Amino acid sequence: TRVLGIEGTAWAASAAVSDSESDDVFIETDAYQPESGGIHPREAAEHMHEAIPRVVERALEYARETFAGPDSAPPIHAVAFSRGPGLGPCLRIVGTAARALAQTLEVPLVGVNHMVAHLEIGRHTADFDDPVCLNASGANAHLLAYRNGRYRVLGETMDTGVGNAIDKFTRHVGWSHPGGPKVEAAAEDGEYVDLPYVVKGMDFSFSGIMSAAKQAYDNGTPVEDVCYSLQENVFGMLTEVSERALSLTGSDELVLGGGVGQNARLREMLAEMCNQRGAEFHAPEPRFLRDNAGMIAVLGAKMYEAGDTLVLEESRVDPNFRPDQVPVTWRPTAES
Ligand code: ATP
Repeated sequence: TRVLGIEGTAWAASAAVSDSESDDVFIETDAYQPESGGIHPREAAEHMHEAIPRVVERALEYARETFAGPDSAPPIHAVAFSRGPGLGPCLRIVGTAARALAQTLEVPLVGVNHMVAHLEIGRHTADFDDPVCLNASGANAHLLAYRNGRYRVLGETMDTGVGNAIDKFTRHVGWSHPGGPKVEAAAEDGEYVDLPYVVKGMDFSFSGIMSAAKQAYDNGTPVEDVCYSLQENVFGMLTEVSERALSLTGSDELVLGGGVGQNARLREMLAEMCNQRGAEFHAPEPRFLRDNAGMIAVLGAKMYEAGDTLVLEESRVDPNFRPDQVPVTWRPTAES
């Protein structure tokens, strides 16, 4: 199966072509870079409007060159798009593009949940059966595991997503977006200072630690020390809850998803925790961790094969689309 995937929930205007037979995934992404501050929804939508046609054209060109002739119709079986969660103005542009393409190419339309796609690309690239997934992305932070036909949210942030929390601190310090890689670099020279650590059962909160981090910085604590301590506490919280999720489900497989998953310290903590309990840990390669259309195309192909397609009238986007709203049609029903 060959699927064109389109992603555009926030900053990444991205198109991809996945080919199930060769396991080849081509991804073309055009990133929105805010001139100042964080992501402005209107500017991000303008970026989608301008960049989506370009990345789609490049992906279709790749599909023609690789799987057919340059003058042939695009050899695509379905068009998959990210339906949500994400910024409404961005999602609407991607939804409109996907509907138009599916109609023009005369192929079915598949609506993919962005967070389930973060999980499934980890499961797919690791060849895991039934992992717990830690989604550590910009706008989200949660643990998912499969049970009775759905991915259940076992634990989640009580306030902001993990990447957004880090980005808020770096904006305060005056660093450009995205902040995560800058915190990671600065943390290398830091020492631990006391900051809040908030885990309540399976849930966790970042607002207290972020206010304390800003305050510590304003009071003259070296920024390297604040960055180091932020990483230790925030990632320590995520690791603790991941371990609890493994223990609760009895799973011995953990996959990581989301852009913050590119952080080496987070991966190190999770790998060490898994190692200690004899579980396997998998973090997909960076191009599949940050927002990308490859994960949309790969899950889109599985959904298409399961007959899980959309009629145009019911293909509205959903900015608050939760992963546990999605009936998992692409896994054998005997699993629970
Ligand atoms: P979502 O998938 O929830 O819609 P998103 O669209 O914001 O989130 P992602 O691509 O998953 O996007 O993640 C982007 C986030 O990842 C940003 O907040 C960025 O600061 C963070 N990030 C990127 N690299 C690193 C890193 N090395 N360490 C920590 N955070 C990072």
